[in-house]
Amino acid sequence: MKRICILGSTGSIGTQTLDIVRHYNKDLEVISLSAASSVDRMEAQIREFSPKKVCMYDSESAHILREKIKDTDTVVLEGMDGLIELCEDENVDMVVTAVVGMIGIRPTIAAINAGKDIALANKETLVCAGHIIMDLAAKKNVKILPVDSEHSAIFQSLQGFPKERIEKILLTASGGPFRGRKRDELVNITWREALKHPNWTMGRKITIDSSTLVNKGLEVIEAKWLFGVEPDKIQVVIQPQSIIHSAVQYVDGGIIAQLGTPDMKLPIQYALFYPDRREMDEERVDLFKLGQIIFEEPDMDTFLGLKLAYRAIKEGGSMPTVLNAANEKAVALFLNDRIHFLDIYDIIEQSMDRHTAIESPSVEQILDAEADCYEFIASRWGN
Ligand code: MG
Repeated sequence: MKRICILGSTGSIGTQTLDIVRHYNKDLEVISLSAASSVDRMEAQIREFSPKKVCMYDSESAHILREKIKDTDTVVLEGMDGLIELCEDENVDMVVTAVVGMIGIRPTIAAINAGKDIALANKETLVCAGHIIMDLAAKKNVKILPVDSEHSAIFQSLQGFPKERIEKILLTASGGPFRGRKRDELVNITWREALKHPNWTMGRKITIDSSTLVNKGLEVIEAKWLFGVEPDKIQVVIQPQSIIHSAVQYVDGGIIAQLGTPDMKLPIQYALFYPDRREMDEERVDLFKLGQIIFEEPDMDTFLGLKLAYRAIKEGGSMPTVLNAANEKAVALFLNDRIHFLDIYDIIEQSMDRHTAIESPSVEQILDAEADCYEFIASRWGN
């Protein structure tokens, strides 16, 4: 029996993780859950999975939830201290970090320090604090199991082969809903159009990030940390059908890839049961129906997200934090009809231009860089 804590249990990855728990309830036990403020969904999860503890990040939501679940034995914690308490719990073997944003960093560090394996779905953890996380995980002998489909595919393609023999990582991207368009065709894009992803059903923020290719840029940064590969050895390949989830090319020229339907359940389940592969009753890829697999080079001059991310890695230190923070705010402004699609790139670029990268930043310096970036954006573009 593996005992798990899910941070971000009411989101897209969180609920799909619970689907797997539901299916494998003899092997997986939910010890604790967390959410930002979705009280009703959390109440339903408490009644179904009877976790010992839950944490609501928002304290008002914690207060409401406590009233609602008075009749159960579940303890409701709140805030950052609550998240950290869940991660340090001696009854937990693995923490699934599926929260969105930089609030994922501190709890992940706490979990690693407490010796828990991590099923990692929170992008910010490695983008902003990769240097801290990977060192600490090695020191504590803790596994970081990637949940993102691309990183899971790379991880699966690495099984049985030495990392030193990697020539190149081939990180695939669908190209998003605007693939093939040029800059002037993106000026009047609305967020409603950007939310129509061709293959994947995901949260709103990551769907916008897919349309700008910022998501792919963040994934390049994560891959660098996860697999210890320099960015010039990470090649982004557009694969519009999202069937090849990523691949590794070795020094002998051989390419090992992982293929599957565009469904997050497999990468989540693989992380939960690694190194085992459990049965999964989901749709299979029909190679005959597929007929052919298409590849394209990414258009980095139109979709600047990727270019900005390579720049952030090159400048290093705290610069990826600024890229991420600026993007987070820009996407929020875009979703509120406050800015145009292409302004997302301008906001990121201007935020990066004014920041001087701090080498190997501490968590405090990372959070300061984030706060400073937010302040700058608010002063120029509003909240
Ligand atoms: Mg991905």
